[in-house]
This record gives sequence, C-alpha cells and structure tokens, in this order.
Amino acid sequence: MNITKLFIDLMTHKATTTLATYLLKPLIKYFDPISCSQTGLLTMFFERLTDEGVKWLIKVGSRILGSSAPEDLDGRNRYLVNGVAIVLDSIARFGVRKPLVTSRPLMVVWNFTNLCNLRCKHCYQDASRRHPNELSVEEKLDLVDMLCRDRVPLLAFSGGEPLAAPEFFEVAEYAANRGLFVSIATNGTLITEEVAKRLKKLGVNYVQVSVDAATPSKHDLFRGIPGAWELAIRGVKNLVKYGIFTCIAMTVTKFNVDEVPKVIELAKKLHVPRVALYNFIPVGKGTEIVKWDLSPIERERLLYYILREFMKGGIEVMTTAPQYGRVIASLLEEYGYLPKVAAAHFYSGSSEWGKVVEFIGGCGAGRVYLGIEPDGTVTPCVFLKIPVGNVRQSRIRDIWMKSQVLWDLRDRDKLKDPCGSCPYKHVCGGCRARAYAYFQDYLAPDPGCFRASKYL
Ligand code: SF4
Ligand code: SF4
Repeated sequence: MNITKLFIDLMTHKATTTLATYLLKPLIKYFDPISCSQTGLLTMFFERLTDEGVKWLIKVGSRILGSSAPEDLDGRNRYLVNGVAIVLDSIARFGVRKPLVTSRPLMVVWNFTNLCNLRCKHCYQDASRRHPNELSVEEKLDLVDMLCRDRVPLLAFSGGEPLAAPEFFEVAEYAANRGLFVSIATNGTLITEEVAKRLKKLGVNYVQVSVDAATPSKHDLFRGIPGAWELAIRGVKNLVKYGIFTCIAMTVTKFNVDEVPKVIELAKKLHVPRVALYNFIPVGKGTEIVKWDLSPIERERLLYYILREFMKGGIEVMTTAPQYGRVIASLLEEYGYLPKVAAAHFYSGSSEWGKVVEFIGGCGAGRVYLGIEPDGTVTPCVFLKIPVGNVRQSRIRDIWMKSQVLWDLRDRDKLKDPCGSCPYKHVCGGCRARAYAYFQDYLAPDPGCFRASKYL
C-alpha cells in the first residue's frame, strides 16, 4: 500500500485502522492489552523516540511495504510523522489497549461555520447563518497553529457548509501548508470546476459530498432546496475530474433506505471510489424527524447489505454505525474467516487482520477523535454536543487529557447495560451520540442496536 493512500484511508471515521494494521498487529501478538507494564523496554523506547526517529521509522516502514519513502515530512506530509508519533506515544502511555486510546486526537472534525446554503431536514447543526460568537479569521488561523503544536494529524472541515465561508480557502490552505491532512465534508453544491481546481491546488486531500438519494427529487426534498441534487452531482464530477479522492456520503433513514443500492450504483458510474453510509443521529434539526430513524431490524439488515456490497468489491462501502464491528466480529467467530474484514467507521483489508477490529473499537468519540464547534467549543463528537472545553481558553491536548467526560467515553466498562455487559462492547461500544440523543446519558445503550433493543 502506498504511504499516501495509507493516510488518505485514515480520513472520515478511519483514523486508526491502517496505523493499527501496520504498527499494532505485531505488538498485539506480544503484549497483553491494557497492561502497560509488560511493554517494558518498548515503552521506554517509544517515550524517547524523537521526531527524527519517527521519520526514520516511516522511511524504513515504507521501504518494507514496497513503496517509495514519502517526501516533505516537514512540510505537507507532516501529518504522517504526527500520526505515527501519536500512536507510539499512546502505546507508551496507555499500553496496547482494546480499544485503542490515543494520547492526542488523531482527528479533529471542525464545524468551521454555521453558514449554510441548504436547509437539510437532518442537519445536526441546524445551520443557516453564522454563529453570533463564531471564531474570527485570526482565531481560526490560531486554531490551526494550535492543532499543529498539539500534533493533531488529521483535520476535517465540516459545517454548516464550509465552502460558504469566504475565509475557508485561506484557512484550509494554511492548514495544508502546515502539514495537516485536510479533508472536507460538504453538500457539494458550491464546487464549480474553478473551486475543484482551487481545492486541488491548495492541498485538500479528501472531499466527502452528501448525496442522500439517486432520485433527484428525493434528495432535494431532504436537502430543502430544489436543484440541490444537480449541483451536488456537478460537484462530485468536478472533484473526480481534478483527481481529488472523493466519497459520497448518505445519511440513511426510513425515508431513503430503499435508495442505498441506487446510490452505490450512481457512485460507481461517477467513478467515485467510496460510499459512506452515515448513521442518522437525532440532534439539531434531526430531532424533528426522529420517526424516520431506522428500527434496529432495519439497521441490522442494512449492515449485512453493506457487508455484501463491500465483499463484492469495485467500490468501498462503509458505515459509521459502530454495530458493524459487532457484525464482523460475530461472523469471524462463527466462520473463523472472511474474505475481507471491515470494521465500524473503518475499513481494513484481508481477514488475517481480524484482531485489529478490537483495537479500532467502533465509536471513536473522545477516544481517537474530537469535534470543534464554530465558536471554538470542543465536544467529544460533532453529533455529541457536550462541551468539554473551548479552544479560546484551553489547548486541545489539555482538554483531551483532563476532561472527565472524555475519560468516561474511553472506558467501555462504564457503559450501562445492555451495552455494558455486551460481549462486543470493545468492537462497538454503541454510538454515544445516539445514546445521548435518546436518553440524555452518554453512557446509556444505543437504542439502534438489534442486541440492545431486546432489553430496552
Ligand atoms: S458518537 Fe456516534 S457518530 Fe460520534 S464517533 Fe461515536 S459512533 Fe461515531
Ligand atoms: S449492545 Fe451496545 S455494545 Fe453491544 S453491539 Fe449493541 S450497541 Fe454495540
């Protein structure tokens, strides 16, 4: 696997799979999870590993993997060094835990603005105008500096619609030049050919465009503006034309679940390499359409469908539903082998990496990833709007280490039943944002799960 592709694969909810695959698998074999003490000399080695040491490891690693050593490790590819350094530092501090807990977030999703040109029915942000206390352009640039100082490798811009904010290009270019891996989640409607060209030039690595149906009228109804589908598809075509890694994202509800196969076909036709099926989470405007949430049985059927499509190949089909990890783990238990292994929020490769599913661990909120709101408020996930700090007052690394909410989310033994006693809690953990949306308790069960629903 090419090392750049390797990090492209880390985007959206894929933050640890590949690192886990290449760095953790040998360690998993030798060290007892949870126990740091047994890592002994290795811990000391990781703690003392300098920047130069990490760069050397990356170069040697890529040679072993048969790809050319990446260049510009102090420039635009700086995220490679930071990503590897964080994983090694995490092992040094916490041991090889199931699931993996990192010592800094591997990824930050930044709701860059509350501005939006659409009126989507499920919008978690209820976006339209700028937040009255939104970070200024200067503060946004300072935040990029902070992310770099705190060695966060992956930055995803979301919103609102990030491309609706005129300062987006300045901030995104600054982030890319400072060595962050930059991705965007967008409704795609503003991506003209000129914009796609500009995104490519400024160093955007990955763009995820929301397409909720292959039927234009259905998408437009969901997105609240006639003509939104045509514009989104134009955006996808422009991104593909300029060689930007493009993903179609679909939020699946009762309203559009029948469109899933058609959207996958559409993506293939448009030469899009990946479709990400998002779990619906009733927050923001989404609270008004809670009746559209899939039942646990519908979700279960969808997860098996996703797995079948993924196995067929030709396109990556993934989901943000953490229960997908449970589906994979239970099939591996039953059959001992699957032609390929994928995990919730993530995708890995052949079946021999099955163990890695336990380290990826489903829900990553506060464990490997954080959200930032337009006013600088930090939350465990963009869908889980519990404030744990604000970048105007604190550094990301301090919030990450000090917040009790984040430490609770990292400890699956704190989950309430049935998630708490579930044998799959380490590969899944339930969507903590769904638990909070339904029960106002981030440790409550995820009511969307087939296993949990039997007891609720
Ligand atoms: S809270 Fe839900 S959406 Fe957020 S990381 Fe966890 S599973 Fe994903
Ligand atoms: S019961 Fe909870 S932890 Fe177990 S599979 Fe369902 S959502 Fe995941």
